[in-house]
Amino acid sequence: MAKHISDILNDNRISFSFEFFPPKDQKASDTLYKTIAELSPRQPAFVSVTYGAGGSTTELTHDLVTRLQRDTDLTVVSHLTCVGTTFAGISEILDSYHNSGIRNIMALRGDMPKNGAPPSFDFRYAANLVGYIKKNYPDMGIGVAGFPEGHPETPNRLREIDYLKAKVDAGADYICTQLFFDNRDFYDFCERCELAGIKIPIIAGIMPATNRKGMERMADLALGARFPARLLKAFSRAGNDDAGFENVGIHWAAEQVRDLIDNGVKGIQFYTLNKSKATLKIYESLGITDSKNLI
Ligand code: FAD
Repeated sequence: MAKHISDILNDNRISFSFEFFPPKDQKASDTLYKTIAELSPRQPAFVSVTYGAGGSTTELTHDLVTRLQRDTDLTVVSHLTCVGTTFAGISEILDSYHNSGIRNIMALRGDMPKNGAPPSFDFRYAANLVGYIKKNYPDMGIGVAGFPEGHPETPNRLREIDYLKAKVDAGADYICTQLFFDNRDFYDFCERCELAGIKIPIIAGIMPATNRKGMERMADLALGARFPARLLKAFSRAGNDDAGFENVGIHWAAEQVRDLIDNGVKGIQFYTLNKSKATLKIYESLGITDSKNLI
């Protein structure tokens, strides 16, 4: 039986995990499986697979998740978004995961469509999905999203923690955060959670900025992540040198990870973008060979 992520996180070791997204064509699929083959020897505590909001990747996510569950020893978390869905649609997906042995779901709302609210929806917020899973699939482990620098739709920085607490009260077992570049934002978020009585483990989401375009895309998507001036200065020293830019981004992320480990983080999720290079370099620069030995 697949382990629950909360059991892994409550272990004394630090959990290192990798996020992938479902490939859209054969070439992308080949790249992803090569990445998985390169990262698997690092023995991640689990891997997670994203889901396109509005069901845009339902089948692709399902295929990848069930294949990983069937063909590898990896513990798999499947993301699921509820925006624009019905109880019946969500049940169909969860039944299928359950039958395939998946026992961990990352329960999300997903981004609202740009042209307004979706025509039909049984779930308004992720908290509703968490409650639904908890009630109907009690043996599923549930993760939820957290936003150290706030979520764009909730400018009220006091209320946002109440909404996060509602997801925890509905049955979430752990929180995984949006990416961030300044660890102080993560530590402050953890303290605010503690003040609000949120006691479940919090996983830090880390994604190195490895090229200028990627950095601009992150800023464009309004992921909320602030680029600290010190990081921007280091990037500007790299000038037009792409390799230099990549080195700076990876070095910065490695330092974030080292600092998080030193400060007792429960887990780190690497947003791999289906590539292994940056993650492997971070492992290498920290002298980590195997995630299972992390304490
Ligand atoms: P919610 O918790 O429902 O929050 C959405 C917004 O509503 C927030 O601003 C919140 O403060 C506010 N809110 C919550 N409850 C209330 C209430 N009762 N009254 C008023 N306002 C309220 N997206 C994907 O499409 N696929 C993925 O696979 C995916 N994976 C992700 C993984 C992680 C770790 C993270 C951090 C994000 C991920 N996302 C993914 C993005 C996420 O779906 C979006 O950021 C989305 O806009 C918010 O989702 P949520 O689950 O946090 O929603």
